[in-house]
Amino acid sequence: MLPDTYYARTAHPDRPRPVAEGAIKTDVLIVGGGMAGLALARDLARAGTDVRLIEAKAVGFGASGRNGGFASPGYAVGLDEVEARAGRATADALEKLTLEALDEMRALCVANPDAGTTMTPGILYARRTPSRGGLQHQQADMAARFGLDLTYLDRDQIRARLKSAKYHEALLSTRSVHLHPLNYTRLLARTAEDFGARIHEGSPAVSLMNGLGEWTVTTPMATITARNVVLTTGGYTGPLYPRLQRSFVPVATYVMASAPAPELLATAIATTDAVGDERRAGDYYRLVEGGRRLLWGGAITVRDRSPDAVAAYLRRGMIATYPQLADLPIEVSWSGLMSYARHKMPQVGQVEPGLWHATAFGGHGLTATHAAARAVSEALLGQSDRVQLFAPWGLTQTFGPLGKAAAQATYWALQARDAWSEARAARG
Ligand SMILES: Cc1cc2nc3c(=O)[nH]c(=O)nc-3n(C[C@H](O)[C@H](O)[C@H](O)COP(=O)(O)OP(=O)(O)OC[C@H]3O[C@@H](n4cnc5c(N)ncnc54)[C@H](O)[C@@H]3O)c2cc1C
Repeated sequence: MLPDTYYARTAHPDRPRPVAEGAIKTDVLIVGGGMAGLALARDLARAGTDVRLIEAKAVGFGASGRNGGFASPGYAVGLDEVEARAGRATADALEKLTLEALDEMRALCVANPDAGTTMTPGILYARRTPSRGGLQHQQADMAARFGLDLTYLDRDQIRARLKSAKYHEALLSTRSVHLHPLNYTRLLARTAEDFGARIHEGSPAVSLMNGLGEWTVTTPMATITARNVVLTTGGYTGPLYPRLQRSFVPVATYVMASAPAPELLATAIATTDAVGDERRAGDYYRLVEGGRRLLWGGAITVRDRSPDAVAAYLRRGMIATYPQLADLPIEVSWSGLMSYARHKMPQVGQVEPGLWHATAFGGHGLTATHAAARAVSEALLGQSDRVQLFAPWGLTQTFGPLGKAAAQATYWALQARDAWSEARAARG
């Protein structure tokens, strides 16, 4: 049931999971088996809640099982934008929620060394244009506000690691990690089950109704009633609850994996750190298998295009950065859907009594899904009102095809702006 990706090809075996059948009653029903739904199932089951999760295909089928694998704090919009909208205290609390999530993700990987998460510390935020002091300012700000220990790398230091004339400076975070997202997602599912959550695969929710203080969800083989339903269907959200479907634009992004070529790759990338850059439409890449292969991601489109066509495009970008990789063979490429709200922040909260949602994590969902899951679980358990931190960003409308066209136009404009800034930096 999984798409052909590097991760599916290298996945550790998982448990079989039953299809949902018959009349089922539960306290909380979660729809969608990505990181958001599974982290929530884990948190609720750990607290003793009777919780079920239904997944249309298989755990990790969506973005969670096929992404770049970069886990870092924050959201798809920068801290400045979050602060501008909601104030400093809310911005700090939201950031801390993702730091908490990151530490917990790391701890889960460390506690399960045989799960194949390949969790490796280190993400480099490399700049293709000089920041003129901006990175040092960011380094000091993150240290003062969150105790984050980021290392500044100047031009020589970054070019010793990344052998490309494109890079000018970088910040290194060793608290951030990169990992095998499919093995991690499966580990999260097993952890939730070990706490008592019940997970059904091959069980798409096809209708959702409300009556007598309960919600009823039907699948092809089951009718499930629950006091609370949480929709965590990400970029794969369908018409189950039309208001949710209208609230986001599904955006495709792409990753390719090289064939084994350790010697060639060593001429370009001399670090185990994952690498991203400051462009809104930037590349993200990392070596895996101890430097044997390269995973390279980038590009966004509002139409899900053929991964092969996009691999050719990604390859051109890779070679523009590293001409020495011109002969690197690519073995497999794939795409995945992210969900973006107009405001680009996650949409998390209760939309009607007993009906919750945690979606729209965009391209920054690894820690943000866990952060949102924690906030929703605390609300359902009556432990905190941290879910209110997300209240400034509601279920806004995206205007269907017009929204998609606007999203693509914004991407092209950002890409043009990035290219112009880079050309100017290259001219000095
Ligand atoms: C190629 C790619 C690269 C990315 N790289 C990164 C990265 O490096 N770092 C980062 O932080 N973020 C990254 N992201 C974003 C990140 O992967 C997502 O934000 C995150 O995984 C979203 O998780 P989710 O649980 O909300 O949704 P998903 O993982 O998409 O899960 C949603 C699930 O809901 C199921 N579903 C849908 N409808 C129904 C229904 N009616 N009934 C039952 N089940 C249903 C789907 O089958 C799916 O499995 C990337 C995304 C992509 C696509």
